[in-house]
Amino acid sequence: MDYQAVLEEVADAVAPQIGRGQAAGYIPALAAVDLGGFGMALADVDGSVTGVGDWQVPFSVQSISKAFGLALVLAQDGENLWGRVGREPSGTPFNSLVQLEYENGIPRNPFINAGALVVTDRLQSLTGDASTTMLDFLRAESGNPQVSFDPAVASSESDHGDRNAALAHFMASYGNLDNPVQTVLDHYFRQCSIAMSCRDLALAGSFLARHGLATDGSRLLPAREAKRINAVMLTCGTYDAAGDFAYRVGLPGKSGVGGGILAVVPGRCTLCVWSPGLDMRGNSVAGVAALDAFTSLTDWSVF
Ligand code: GLN
Repeated sequence: MDYQAVLEEVADAVAPQIGRGQAAGYIPALAAVDLGGFGMALADVDGSVTGVGDWQVPFSVQSISKAFGLALVLAQDGENLWGRVGREPSGTPFNSLVQLEYENGIPRNPFINAGALVVTDRLQSLTGDASTTMLDFLRAESGNPQVSFDPAVASSESDHGDRNAALAHFMASYGNLDNPVQTVLDHYFRQCSIAMSCRDLALAGSFLARHGLATDGSRLLPAREAKRINAVMLTCGTYDAAGDFAYRVGLPGKSGVGGGILAVVPGRCTLCVWSPGLDMRGNSVAGVAALDAFTSLTDWSVF
């Protein structure tokens, strides 16, 4: 397949959507971003990467980091995590508090904020430095040593992080955090602040399309664990829009409020699309449209 031609066709098809939606205003450092950006990259399982638009421009990965955190914990700790976090869609916004009390401090899944905080807590216990472990992993898998934290975004989120702090304290009250709340929050904000391009993210997520094999050919995860991460991305990766995302796109996907979405075509490729205008559920308007157009053009959904 001529990937470049397909991506150009996708970019043309979604041009009217670019600039629609809103930036993530609750994180002031992200609120000022220009809504006109759009990029898309495709990393083939053979390691080659193709892109269109702003595909080499770094943006804030935000919740896309949650997929990598889950992978790192499953790689190091097997299935133990699932006693502390579920794997059902929440049907509630990514930062919602309501379910946590009904469900005794056990988050519905690892991709809502509460669940990601538990994953970060576990990675911190396993490694002693959760966010640097993730950064090192992302640099290695993307092949880009320039990938970095954005301290301005991390501190902006921390300064306005009352809701995440509430989630973390609430879970601590149920004994579902092993590290101090502030430590977990600091590492969580740092991992969310990592700046990467569509190119970097498509490459870094390749292990999900390669059934658990890292870019150097070593095994990061057993194939069954890669399958499970993809399954949780499909059912929970876009929060309370996961049903609609599966309906329109038909691929495992993980979005972030920086406007990026990482999607996986198992056995073939990973895709990353970025455009900062978000819909009401925090997913990129043009990003979802682009993935919808991609699977319509190629017939490469998992269904
Ligand atoms: N850092 C963001 C938060 O915790 C991530 C949310 C997201 O990307 N959906 O609110």
